[in-house]
Amino acid sequence: MISYQIIEHGKPLQKVFTENPKPIGTEVLMRVTRSGVCHSDLHIWEGYFDLGGGKRFYVKERGCVPPFTLGHEPFGIVEALGPKAKGVKVGQKRLIHPWIGCGKCAVCKAGQENYCVSGTRILGVNRAGGYSTHLLVPDAKYLLDASGIDEGFAATLACSGVTAYSASAKLPPLTPSDRVAIVGCGGVGMAGVAVLRAKGVKNIVACDIDDAKLKSAMKLGARFAVNTRSPDAAQQLQGIAGAIDFVGTPATAALGIAALRKGGRYVLVGLHGGELAHPLPPIAQRAIGIVGSYVGSLQELKEVVALAKKGRLKPMPVETRPAQEVNGALDDLQAGRVVGRVVLDFEGIAA
Ligand SMILES: [Zn+2]
Ligand SMILES: [Zn+2]
Repeated sequence: MISYQIIEHGKPLQKVFTENPKPIGTEVLMRVTRSGVCHSDLHIWEGYFDLGGGKRFYVKERGCVPPFTLGHEPFGIVEALGPKAKGVKVGQKRLIHPWIGCGKCAVCKAGQENYCVSGTRILGVNRAGGYSTHLLVPDAKYLLDASGIDEGFAATLACSGVTAYSASAKLPPLTPSDRVAIVGCGGVGMAGVAVLRAKGVKNIVACDIDDAKLKSAMKLGARFAVNTRSPDAAQQLQGIAGAIDFVGTPATAALGIAALRKGGRYVLVGLHGGELAHPLPPIAQRAIGIVGSYVGSLQELKEVVALAKKGRLKPMPVETRPAQEVNGALDDLQAGRVVGRVVLDFEGIAA
């Protein structure tokens, strides 16, 4: 098989040839056809997350040690089954749920594998991911039938779709006139706009520093657009019921939290980095919530796929590029040049 791997953090990914893995036990070997490129791939590629104040969290501390294959938005075809694998057949196309936990702890048993205590089996985060012609999945239960949905769009549901969906569930109860801000209209933020629309939220406020992304968010269903570089951005947002922050900088957090109405909720998803300092009394006095959201569960991904199948979840712009162009895709994403999602095409690569 051919994989595009981190050999050294921050350096271009390298094309690596290895033997196809042989599935054992309940494992399923997938032939990857599509693989989305996510903003969090950039942090793993760099090797750390910025904790603010000069502190860093290094990804090697959670098991991501080069050589490493990124990619947590994979879609593919079942190629081989381990002797105990059940529920899929060779040749079937499936969306791959990457947020896999140990399967044994109480959190996993409650269906929240994305919050697993050990968290060591996440595809593309601490196990080999989808920037590869082949991918080993621990069990067929993580493979979802997404037939009827475009494969490139389906791939994006594995992270951007389910992440936005899970975050939207953490908003407070909304009245029809309530406004909700989507802060950051990159790939996951765009999915956020689509998810809120699918859930019937009418007053979506798209926020970004890039007018092209705001325009695209309006097309997808946002009702208002705020360029957060404009001097009255904070004023325009004042009184929002919720903010989902897909950027995650001290500036976006301050903006989102300050604009909340009483009882409002700020949901942090983006991992850009930094730290939060906020006076305590107003959090109580304004009865606001500050909550984090990390990707989504298998059940939530099933619900997102169902929404997409019904046509209720509008696809964000998806640009398919040959897998060989992975380094260019990462560069473009880092430079803010991607509107929507770049999805790599692995079908054209002989393996
Ligand atoms: Zn992601
Ligand atoms: Zn677990």
